[in-house]
Amino acid sequence: MESVERCPACGASPLLSAGGLARCRACGLARAEEPCFSEPRYGGLDEREIYSLSKSRIITELVSDLSAFRPGGGRLLDVGCASGEIMKAAASAGWDCSGVEISPRLAAEASAAGFPVHAGRLETLRTPDSSFDAVAFYDVLSLVEDPRPLLARAFALLRPGGAVFIRELNAAFHLRALALSGLPPLRALGLRPGVVHNWNYTPAAMRAFLRSSGFEGIRLRNSRPTSGDPYATGGRLGAAAVGIFKSAFFAAARAAGVLSGGRVLAASAFAAAAFKPGGQR
Ligand SMILES: [Zn+2]
Repeated sequence: MESVERCPACGASPLLSAGGLARCRACGLARAEEPCFSEPRYGGLDEREIYSLSKSRIITELVSDLSAFRPGGGRLLDVGCASGEIMKAAASAGWDCSGVEISPRLAAEASAAGFPVHAGRLETLRTPDSSFDAVAFYDVLSLVEDPRPLLARAFALLRPGGAVFIRELNAAFHLRALALSGLPPLRALGLRPGVVHNWNYTPAAMRAFLRSSGFEGIRLRNSRPTSGDPYATGGRLGAAAVGIFKSAFFAAARAAGVLSGGRVLAASAFAAAAFKPGGQR
């Protein structure tokens, strides 16, 4: 009999194939059956808008999380640092930053901004264990081959009490949006609100991965959307209308989060923080 793969996040349920995704009914994890690993190509879209301008509020939120964790700063490793926007913002809040970036061109840009950057994969970074107070994976774990070795390496690189900070699209939102975008009125407008990557995490799936990687004190919250429409998902509606919709939806999701005591995370993305046991937080 053919063996059925159990969910790599929660292990509670077998993965079931549906619409090109292997999905877990228990935690909601959805993995692409034909993953894509090419360097991102954004066609006619504006890279500066994608990596920097549209993410400025998201980066501000991360820096405020870092400051709340260690007000005086510390050592930060930003995995998938692109051109170094997170490192620039964190450095101005007192953090000593290093990056890892798989794209040689973006790694060179981040290096030129004055940061030590490893141009390659996290697995090939030659840095002793327990070297960092914080490791960030911002919009990175959805694109990789397997998040487990990366979380294991981050765990080893953190000192006891150190923290991992993660941002990901919320699959609970995006897979629903993807189903809706097949409806004729949305199709007529050219809307593509549902985004699917190699790994699509629900909050429950991310919690399960963090727990099985050894982290504790796991906290998730809604994360702001990018501003405007950098990936042109809004079709004929245009960036201004998409921006207004995203802000209004985020406000409603945040209200639901507050009313549910943080249990309901309905926004299009979430941010997670989790700690390596032991040591000083
Ligand atoms: Zn699962």
